[in-house]
Amino acid sequence: MRALATTSVDRFRRELHAHPEPGWAEFRTTARLIEELALLQHARVVYGGALGLGERRLGVEPQQQREFARRAVEAGCPTDLIAELADAGTGVVCEFGDGSRGGWLVLRFDIDALAVRESDDPVHAPVAQGFASGIDGYSHACGHDGHAAIGLGVARRVDRLVGQLPLGLGVRIVFQPAEEGTRGAAALVDAGWLRGAGWFFGLHLDALEGLPAGTVVPGTRRILATEKLDVVLTGRASHAAESPELGRDALAAAVDVYAALRGCDWDGATVSCNALAGGEARNVIAAHAELKCEIRAVEWAAVVRARERFTRIVEEESARRGVIARVDTVGRSIGGGSDGPGTSLMRESAERAGLPVVDVRDFGASDDAADLMAATQRGGGIGSYGLLATGGLADAHSARFDCSPAALESGVALMTECVRTVIREMRQE
Ligand SMILES: [Zn+2]
Repeated sequence: MRALATTSVDRFRRELHAHPEPGWAEFRTTARLIEELALLQHARVVYGGALGLGERRLGVEPQQQREFARRAVEAGCPTDLIAELADAGTGVVCEFGDGSRGGWLVLRFDIDALAVRESDDPVHAPVAQGFASGIDGYSHACGHDGHAAIGLGVARRVDRLVGQLPLGLGVRIVFQPAEEGTRGAAALVDAGWLRGAGWFFGLHLDALEGLPAGTVVPGTRRILATEKLDVVLTGRASHAAESPELGRDALAAAVDVYAALRGCDWDGATVSCNALAGGEARNVIAAHAELKCEIRAVEWAAVVRARERFTRIVEEESARRGVIARVDTVGRSIGGGSDGPGTSLMRESAERAGLPVVDVRDFGASDDAADLMAATQRGGGIGSYGLLATGGLADAHSARFDCSPAALESGVALMTECVRTVIREMRQE
């Protein structure tokens, strides 16, 4: 007998909202998704070591992982599962049917939260209704709680559509970890989860200037390419008063690097450095310093060129101070955009679902959904990354970001309709 779902899409979103977890530390979120997806009749649920992310992960933060793993275990998640997810990576892939001969229809929903403190304003709906973030300093300010809940809702509907899937068509629903900092998608592509993808669809909740909840932008252009870089500088400590000349000042090198790189624009590739930390004590020449930087451009090739110049400047500036420099890639996305056929398919699906549709627009930021979409397009498939109105006015990454239950229902309807449209097109061929 089929087990009953334990929670509605809206309730699931509220539950995730109250327990935000940052990228590669979505332990409780992953455990709950596995639990809910296991109730489906036809789903193959893949996670942990079987996902193959492990060493492919970029930008894992061990301290954050330990803290959130501990919280998950305290919340009752199985200890061995959390240990596996910490080693092998968070996230879940849920498959229906077999796309190995015809193609996979890939739907992506990201699941991670941000290090943004949620508003405690009593009129902010999560506060008023008792599901605000319970973890100080973290929240779902980018709406990925809503994305994950929509994904679960879509999985439940696809489970009931399995009998209609044409031979050779498989549906692969990807609950992607670590979108923030563009860290998760590249690992999924490397691990082969986009191989054989014929269609890619995803969506992001967005205020869309207050358009009614559930309004659909059926495609986005100019999703920016980016590389996230940590500059790690190692000097030598010495007594700041007695023997400063014996030291190699990593903090001074960091300031030089910052001044040389900040705001650079090389052929449309812009560099920004937004965090600098270094030094150990007031009276010791700093032996360590670190900068967090990023490069963004419309074209990935421009990012690659800028990265070379970036590295050269870091090496020159640190060498002048006798400091050793290392540049680590902690995130990357090649950028891209929806294609014509993918956009048309999403538009048609939105119309069939009875949702209001507005024009395609520029994305204007990065989202590593672009990497999954580009992998699909490279293999000859089509794809679109859309936007869905939250029904609120707060922009993503703000402390008051929220989405209405109606937006969640619209998201489930839209993505399910995309599956139905592909089924219909395949049947007509
Ligand atoms: Zn986001």
